Amino acid sequence: MNVGVKPAGRQRWKLNSSYRSDIISLTVNPFVGVKEMNSLSLKQFQDQVSELLLRHRSLLDVLSKYTQSGAAVQRSVAKGITECGCIQVHAGKQHYSTEMTIEDAKKLLDTHMAGELCENCTEIISAEIGRNLFYTASLCNLLGINLETVLEQESKRCSTLGFFNMS
Ligand SMILES: [Zn+2]
Repeated sequence: MNVGVKPAGRQRWKLNSSYRSDIISLTVNPFVGVKEMNSLSLKQFQDQVSELLLRHRSLLDVLSKYTQSGAAVQRSVAKGITECGCIQVHAGKQHYSTEMTIEDAKKLLDTHMAGELCENCTEIISAEIGRNLFYTASLCNLLGINLETVLEQESKRCSTLGFFNMS
């Protein structure tokens, strides 16, 4: 994709400036080699974030950036609806029933979403999710939490909980 070209008929909205400055501070760091990104593990990502996080080392800074980056993901999706228009929300009451099987639920419960993300929105939302992951890894680093362990435990939780408990 040529990211320099404004998509016809659609306003190309931008990543916020603080994100750009973070990325610049990351890409100029000479101590981190980004190799073999295809097989990047969570452990490697967490170690990479640890080496890169020079600007926001304080727990308070990381906490607020973590929250801000989560809000930015939400905002980027909202922009896909209100500014780009590639997706829409058509929402109404969900009709749950404890008698439902997973197959019934897939048919009857609505995502409330219509349309499909365009290439531009996919790129921007993905970048915001990436930024949120960056601060998730930063928070884990500061608190001594291993992201791979978090993922494994959450995966186990998902496989042991019933469908209707996943709320
Ligand atoms: Zn779009």
